Amino acid sequence: MTEDTNIYRTLGPIYISSIQPLLNEEDLFEKYKIKTIISITKSNIPSKYKISPYDSYLQIPIDDLPSEVIIPYFSQINKLITETIYKQRSKDEIEHTIIEGTKPAKLELSGNAVLIHCQSGISRSVSFVCAYLMNRYNLSLNHALHAIRRNNSTDHLFQPNDGFIEQLEIYKENNWIVDLVYLRKKSSHWRAYRMEYLMSNLLSNKQTDSQFSNIQNDDNDNIKDENWFGFKCCKCRALLASSEVYIPHAPPFDKDDKQMYFTKNAFKSKRVVNRQIGQNECTQIFTEPLTWMRDKISSENDIGTKEDNNSNIMFDNLEGRLDCYKCGNKVGGWNWKGERCSCGKWMVPAIHLLKSKVIQVDRNNKLILPNDDRAI
Ligand SMILES: [Zn+2]
Ligand SMILES: [Zn+2]
Repeated sequence: MTEDTNIYRTLGPIYISSIQPLLNEEDLFEKYKIKTIISITKSNIPSKYKISPYDSYLQIPIDDLPSEVIIPYFSQINKLITETIYKQRSKDEIEHTIIEGTKPAKLELSGNAVLIHCQSGISRSVSFVCAYLMNRYNLSLNHALHAIRRNNSTDHLFQPNDGFIEQLEIYKENNWIVDLVYLRKKSSHWRAYRMEYLMSNLLSNKQTDSQFSNIQNDDNDNIKDENWFGFKCCKCRALLASSEVYIPHAPPFDKDDKQMYFTKNAFKSKRVVNRQIGQNECTQIFTEPLTWMRDKISSENDIGTKEDNNSNIMFDNLEGRLDCYKCGNKVGGWNWKGERCSCGKWMVPAIHLLKSKVIQVDRNNKLILPNDDRAI
């Protein structure tokens, strides 16, 4: 790839570039009044950009992969941009401006600029500038991209990857909320995005640690969220999952919904011999893939792909059981093709703990009983 040394102005004093101008040690303050540098890359930049005349340097060490989660960084970066390009006013006012989103407050420009760069200035940096513009001016993603492209009539690409596009849409749909616990609970778009990329990476063997979520350890003192809950092994009390990785689902309620029923067909025929309505109670607790499951899911899963006669790709070892990492007791199972909860709901892909094999506790390690409102 040719090295792109250009610095692209977007809307207002916000610039995008590849890493190249920084490696060339360009004088960004002299030329562009850039005071704040935000690096969306794992690479280092020369230390001169971390000291005066530069005020702030922030690095977000992520790769340009659709599975990288970028939403949690949006509010921090938006705030840093606002603080740099506008004259400092009260902290409240700045935060208010960002949360408000819908009505861009008339703030006075400070005369200083921000540079957001990544490796090539195409996907990562553009995504964060879009997040800022969408939030500040209540723009759709397309309008934000258009605003960036319109100012730059070059053939440089400004194109977030597919996963970043989905996350930017989710960001707007959920009124600029960046809390992943909230999104897991409330946004089916978020859950669909997460599982889609987790699964496609697992199936293509591009596994990285970042696809397996960590759960907070037993040190409950550090848990800030008062609504936190955990699922522990009923035999040895090892923490197996928590509210951060729990994937809620609504049981099907429409009697026309096929998922309501478990049907049994006659052998090799479509004739229904038995049809039972799903149970009211869910017996499974679905979660994201977790680090303690990693060996189980990926090695057992050795993702043998082969093609059948019709060139359809078939996958081997797509399901298995999950044993407690501490005592070895069977606590659940997983199936990449999906499986049904006892209530009838299809979950694809599915990783579950069995309700009968775990206990639910709150952040003070107190048991949550089934009649409690917080009980899952
Ligand atoms: Zn269910
Ligand atoms: Zn156990």
